[in-house]
Amino acid sequence: MPKPTVVLVAIGSNIEPDDNVPAAIRAIDRHSGLELIGISHVYESPAVGHPDQPHFHNAAVKINTLLEPAAVRQALRGIEGNLGRVRTSDKYASRQIDLDIAFFGDQSFELAGNQIPDPDVAIEMYLAAPLADVDPHRIEPTTGLSLADLKEKMMREGTAEVTPVTSNIRRLDTDGRYATDIDGAREETYAPKYEELVSEMLHQLGEDPKREGLVKTPLRVAKAMDFLTSGYSTSLEEVVNDAIFEEDYDEMVIVKDIEFYSLCEHHMLPFFGTAAVGYIPNGRIIGVSKIARIVDLFARRLQVQERLANQVADGLMDVLQPHGVAVVLEASHFCMMMRGVQKQGSSMVSSAMRGTFTDNARTRSEFLELLAH
Ligand code: ZN
Repeated sequence: MPKPTVVLVAIGSNIEPDDNVPAAIRAIDRHSGLELIGISHVYESPAVGHPDQPHFHNAAVKINTLLEPAAVRQALRGIEGNLGRVRTSDKYASRQIDLDIAFFGDQSFELAGNQIPDPDVAIEMYLAAPLADVDPHRIEPTTGLSLADLKEKMMREGTAEVTPVTSNIRRLDTDGRYATDIDGAREETYAPKYEELVSEMLHQLGEDPKREGLVKTPLRVAKAMDFLTSGYSTSLEEVVNDAIFEEDYDEMVIVKDIEFYSLCEHHMLPFFGTAAVGYIPNGRIIGVSKIARIVDLFARRLQVQERLANQVADGLMDVLQPHGVAVVLEASHFCMMMRGVQKQGSSMVSSAMRGTFTDNARTRSEFLELLAH
């Protein structure tokens, strides 16, 4: 069994924080890939760089996860999006919710331009105080102090303007684990507006959204759709996450039988199949699993099959600058299989060729030849 990693997530909000901080914690608790094991007190702090803005409420949670850093970040971005967060270039703009990985086990790395562990923990009490609540003994690497000692030192030196706030998060402490009123609130919502729409849709279909089997359907649909469209809240850069290696290799690299599942943008019905991706390196190669992740990144959006092929090809051209990229998708579309012509057995093939795969007929046929085996 792989061992889960302990991840500390810093939470901040200065737009309706009384609602948004607990809602974010509930969403983390519900996420299938994140096991919530600790919740801090909530602290109030002035908005950095914007003294005129409303104060922030800051908290932290401790989670166990088997996910990779980029996937955790993606999950957190998804939760932010559901709570209405729109990211802007202003790092200090007011926000509904901010969920940042502060520590990822004992690992030290850069994720989408941010250093982890977050070096600001050493200087900002709005980070150090809640993090110390959930993991007091963890060492903050730039100071070499435990989070508890760091918080003590900041309080002693009086540098930070952070005060605990009363909040609607109840803190329980049993065996080093914490809980909130989230258990009582588990029946609440995940993405309220979306769930309302699903409920209305059920009503329009002639259903009774209140009947037993359907009561939780809007919630389930919201969660499922959040996952199935998670490509919107993930960037190519996050997926690739530095897994590109300099390598003096210029033979064709092919990855076949990459399963993918997408939703057609015309009917919002699934289409699914396999992708084959080939490229000819130009000094840089990428991990095989990352190619599958790039396919997922674009598949988890509303798509047409041709654009999906193009986006995967262009994405790889972007990150690798190879001599060329070839992508072939073969997929079955529910909108064809279940309705209209009802051609159950039919599948559709689309391809995108770039660079040498376009220019050189031999390269292209070599690729197609290799796919046949
Ligand atoms: Zn369709």
